[in-house]
Amino acid sequence: MNETQKLPAVAQRICLDCKKCGCERYFTVVAHTTEKSAKVECEVCKSKKTYKLPSAKKKTGGKTSTPRRSSVDKHAQKWTELRDQFATGEVKPYSMAQDFALNAAIQHPKFGLGIVTQVFGHMIQVTFEDVDRSLVHRRT
Ligand SMILES: [Zn+2]
Repeated sequence: MNETQKLPAVAQRICLDCKKCGCERYFTVVAHTTEKSAKVECEVCKSKKTYKLPSAKKKTGGKTSTPRRSSVDKHAQKWTELRDQFATGEVKPYSMAQDFALNAAIQHPKFGLGIVTQVFGHMIQVTFEDVDRSLVHRRT
């Protein structure tokens, strides 16, 4: 088995951690620099960075690193409370153009169900089952 990893296509949007924003953002692929790395640009702060494909290591199990346990438990508790409280009615599909209110339940194509815990300008803080994420909204 020789699974070759491929870079995301130019102009494609991928989710990566932005150091400048301090959270996960959509990055647009600007150009491929090498076979294994690409230049990407944060959609929010426009900072550029290099995206590298994870080096192709041979692994027997499909295991990836597991997140720290204690924070996960705490988060799980918060998540369960939020979900039970607010995900009882309408769940809006996430889109950058949407306008989300506090405590709205959203369905994100990648992260799944989430609850809006903060709204500030064009950003919303959303608690998902795994972690909290900052997302863009009201973007036209
Ligand atoms: Zn950024």
